[in-house]
Amino acid sequence: MVSKQSFSPHTFINSPSVRSADMDFKDLNLIEPLQRALQHEGYVTPTPIQEQAIPYLLQGKDLLGIAQTGTGKTAAFALPILQYLTKNKRIPPRASPRVLILAPTRELAAQIGQSIAAYGRHTTVTRAVIFGGVGYQPQVDALNRGADVLVATPGRLLDLLEQRKVYLNHVEIFVLDEADRMLDMGFFKDIKRIIPLLPTERQTLLFSATMPAEIAHLAQSILKRPERVEITPQATTVEKVEQKVLFVDKDKKPSLLLDLLSQRHLERVLIFTRTKHVANKVSLGLTRAGIKSDAIHGNKSQNARTEALKNFKSGRTRVLVATDIAARGIDIDSISHVINYELPNEPESYVHRIGRTARAGAEGTAYSFCAADERNYLRDIERLIRQHIPIMEHPYHSEAAKNATGDAARPPPKAPYGQRQSHGPRGGPRRDSQGGRRESHAHQRPARRKDGGRRGNFGRR
Ligand code: AMP
Repeated sequence: MVSKQSFSPHTFINSPSVRSADMDFKDLNLIEPLQRALQHEGYVTPTPIQEQAIPYLLQGKDLLGIAQTGTGKTAAFALPILQYLTKNKRIPPRASPRVLILAPTRELAAQIGQSIAAYGRHTTVTRAVIFGGVGYQPQVDALNRGADVLVATPGRLLDLLEQRKVYLNHVEIFVLDEADRMLDMGFFKDIKRIIPLLPTERQTLLFSATMPAEIAHLAQSILKRPERVEITPQATTVEKVEQKVLFVDKDKKPSLLLDLLSQRHLERVLIFTRTKHVANKVSLGLTRAGIKSDAIHGNKSQNARTEALKNFKSGRTRVLVATDIAARGIDIDSISHVINYELPNEPESYVHRIGRTARAGAEGTAYSFCAADERNYLRDIERLIRQHIPIMEHPYHSEAAKNATGDAARPPPKAPYGQRQSHGPRGGPRRDSQGGRRESHAHQRPARRKDGGRRGNFGRR
């Protein structure tokens, strides 16, 4: 688990509804087995979303939570769910969970499963976690043993529903987590097929970091008289991270990266790229240069991702290279530095990325490489965070990148909207190696570039 420290509500000073700093978990009327688990985790003070959401959820109300990973939202919904199940014990019929939690990625689903296990360690609540990319049988076995809580990614859940290996007609609480990511990843169709299978009489929780119109509509159609809790950690997360922008020509990025990593105080470094292709290239280049690193992205097998995360968490690898989706929701302690090897094309992703180094009260540093054709991305980011990121001088500084305007500052052309979501040859979701649906990571597909895909090369010796 992350920090064994108190989570100060002042961290979220920009939140419109932050309350007293004196609240502690005892004031939230949580049952003793949960209090004990929280003590075990080292949590003293509830985060703002916990403080605000838990009382509503304990009353059985529907909730619209506008919050992102890193705010403590998992505990905000997991604790009331565990309390409800403990107070209203019932043996669930075979393969018929009482609680369904949908998450967009395998990593997030696994992490939610682990959090439920940790917070529920002194309860008898059972759980199963299902996601694509791994074999079916262990998941089917877990469902058959009886699980109160099912955490699932939409694609694998639909597969198992079609195979009649799981039923949703006993679901009492439904949580849709990271709804905006679901939308980005093309899962809305799947979700709209899943929702009618749930009983209409249920408690529903929807979490999303942003509220585009599609999500507002969905929220309206699935939530009944919801309470709304909004936590906006943007500016504060940003405040806690020391940020620097490094202007550099694209072909000098590998050298700049090696130069930065030659400094020992960059102890545990998470590098972001926009595409899987670049993630692989960067990781390979680092390995060739003698720096232990791994890459995680949607094309890696589940086992490879789990292994990479384990090695990074344990410190065996110093550097992890990740795409936005692969890194989302990953709970990694004490990342000292985030490096944006490529700036994200969605400015919100910048906030998510740099927030990785300021988890649960910690502080960190974020370096962002900006080439000429990323200049507009930088402009959008600075608009969003309402500040100028200080420029850092370095041996590969590029005035051309710094001063790029007009066409030169424009990002590479995007795929047309209709092609942004990934579809298999016949338009359906891609299948993974187990024949299951696979999470779509298509909008991360490397855009065809003006330079024919030629980028800086680590491999040159
Ligand atoms: P989440 O937003 O659920 O991914 O949580 C972000 C991180 O904060 C996780 O590592 C949690 O273990 C940690 N966390 C959640 N609630 C608290 C709390 N009340 N006090 C300290 N840490 C917390």
